[in-house]
Amino acid sequence: MKQSQLFTKTKKESPADEVSLNAELLIKAGFINKEMAGVYSYLPLGLLVVKKIENIIREEMDAIGGQEVTLTALQEKSTWEPTDQWSDDKVDVWFKTKLKNDTELGLAVTHEAAITKMMTSFIQSYRDLPKYVYQFQTKFRNEARAKSGIMRCREFVMKDLYSFCKDEEEHNLFYEKSKEAYKNIFKRAGIGHLTYITFASGGMFSKFSHEFQTITSTGEDTIYVDSDKGIAINKEVYNDEVLTSLGIKKEGLVENKAVEVGNIFTLGTRFSDALGLKYKTETGEEKPVFMGSYGIGPGRLMGTVVEVLSDDKGIIWPESIAPFKVHLLMLGGDENVVKGAEELYNKLTQKGIEVLFDDRTDMSAGEKFADADLIGIPHRVVVSKRSLADGGFEVKKRTETSGKVMSFEELIGLLETKN
Ligand code: ATP
Ligand code: MG
Repeated sequence: MKQSQLFTKTKKESPADEVSLNAELLIKAGFINKEMAGVYSYLPLGLLVVKKIENIIREEMDAIGGQEVTLTALQEKSTWEPTDQWSDDKVDVWFKTKLKNDTELGLAVTHEAAITKMMTSFIQSYRDLPKYVYQFQTKFRNEARAKSGIMRCREFVMKDLYSFCKDEEEHNLFYEKSKEAYKNIFKRAGIGHLTYITFASGGMFSKFSHEFQTITSTGEDTIYVDSDKGIAINKEVYNDEVLTSLGIKKEGLVENKAVEVGNIFTLGTRFSDALGLKYKTETGEEKPVFMGSYGIGPGRLMGTVVEVLSDDKGIIWPESIAPFKVHLLMLGGDENVVKGAEELYNKLTQKGIEVLFDDRTDMSAGEKFADADLIGIPHRVVVSKRSLADGGFEVKKRTETSGKVMSFEELIGLLETKN
């Protein structure tokens, strides 16, 4: 993509009304636009990142048997009444609306009840189980605090998967597989080294759940990490009983601030009992389906990556989720430079390498370098009179302080090696 064609522009000034680093950098670099507190639009660069994150999640969910759907954001009151979750006293983040004839509707906070109701049309017998169904879908939550940028929104996309099993034993097998899939997701997105599987409260559904918590000083949660074992405990369930049941020693735990990037829950039969999702066993006995739910916020994950991997100049994207692999900077309007840069852009894109080509002619070298650092694409390639005189292109990783001149072949070698 040619940067001269991109409708977004970087901003020199930080937004006045943002306290979070992720929103500040993402707005300055042109990835997102703030509509109001906790509500953000995704712009071309931001959408490229979020789609890459979604694809990583999709691949891992498909690998454990997930089937993708899209449920609706508008939900009926009657969907939520059987589990007593319609009242604002029970669920305090509702956005509600009405049809013209005064029928009450809710804007999806989550989808456990809706999907359970839908699955009653498809699950009747033990032969229909197990099933794993997921979506990327917008949730609306009237969150009291919305000061964490895209990490805590009032409107956001969630990947939510629901598992439907015959019994707890079958459920546990999938639950363990989902843990591995989640570990792969956070590793592939570049925050695996900072993310701990964390013992947490099960909320209204079960005694315990597991959260995936990424260590960052801006996190809203407090966790105790046992780095030897690579696991953690959320402060909300931290007590001697829990410590004894994970085999964790009290003196080995270190307190950290962290953000929940994902969670997995055993729901049991709470929803299937309430909404009548039953199946017939081989012997003709009727039993409730045993369920689980598994959430990740791709936007929160993106915000977390920005929080933990940026520096004072801007964002540092891991290659797996970067909007482009290469930021090609053309410096100066010299005829050979323009020709060299255009040629390189064409050759790289023909090879299927994703390039953002800064072909703007009205910007200084300093402004282009500052933009490249702010936007945070992993490889910066400069074409200038000097680089051509030195025999090629100046190549620098976003994480390096100085570049190196390379020929086209050397550059291709670097970009095609997996790192
Ligand atoms: P939290 O305790 O942080 O509010 P939650 O327990 O409400 O999260 P779930 O409702 O289970 O989380 O949502 C599943 C996932 O969706 C979370 O792990 C997180 O990644 C993401 N998520 C939850 N709330 C938000 C939000 N307000 N904005 C962006 N992403 C969110
Ligand atoms: Mg919440």
